[in-house]
Amino acid sequence: MTLFWAKLVWGLGVIGWFAIRHRHARRSRRTPKVTRSDPARDRALLAFPLTGMCLIPGIYVFTGQPKFADYHFQPALAWAGAVVFALSLWLFYRTHKELGRNWSVTLEIREQHTLVTSGVYRRVRHPMYSAFWLWAFAQALLLPNWIAGLSGLVGFGILFFLRVRHEEELMIETFGEDYRRYMARTSRVVPGIY
Ligand code: SAH
Repeated sequence: MTLFWAKLVWGLGVIGWFAIRHRHARRSRRTPKVTRSDPARDRALLAFPLTGMCLIPGIYVFTGQPKFADYHFQPALAWAGAVVFALSLWLFYRTHKELGRNWSVTLEIREQHTLVTSGVYRRVRHPMYSAFWLWAFAQALLLPNWIAGLSGLVGFGILFFLRVRHEEELMIETFGEDYRRYMARTSRVVPGIY
């Protein structure tokens, strides 16, 4: 693989991601909500992954900047990145399918919200965030630039660590013991590890 193809794979991955999300985002706007955590904070936090996973790598892909942070391109790393990105898209597709109308960009509880614990939700309770982590790792493997490659891990990491506890608290408030039991038998994002 050449650097051109690695950049193209990154771009196609991002387009694929938005294509999967598009349908769910439209339906989500029409689904009534009953509880919201803190919408202003939630929305503000989205700026981090948007910057780290779209804006900074996008600038790099189109302009080659910032050049001082380039390192030598290694085809084997880029191939691994393509595989990880494909895996991330598959997982993202599955999580959207299984969450269905319970999904939202920010932390919310819907009318008739149900707790999903099967399929890709059986062993980890945040598989959609696992998919985002995989995207961020794929970006680091595909783009040979310290800033554009690693900005995804930093940007998504900030959102993840500032959000995940709030999300679990919201789920406990809503589903009580059912969610506590679900927490006890699952990992957060990596089965059996974390
Ligand atoms: N953290 C999950 C979901 C992300 S979408 C994941 O990574 O897969 C965020 C919304 O999903 C939140 O507003 C929350 O209400 C809802 N949610 C999170 N876990 C859920 C579950 N197991 N079942 C149903 N809804 C869930």
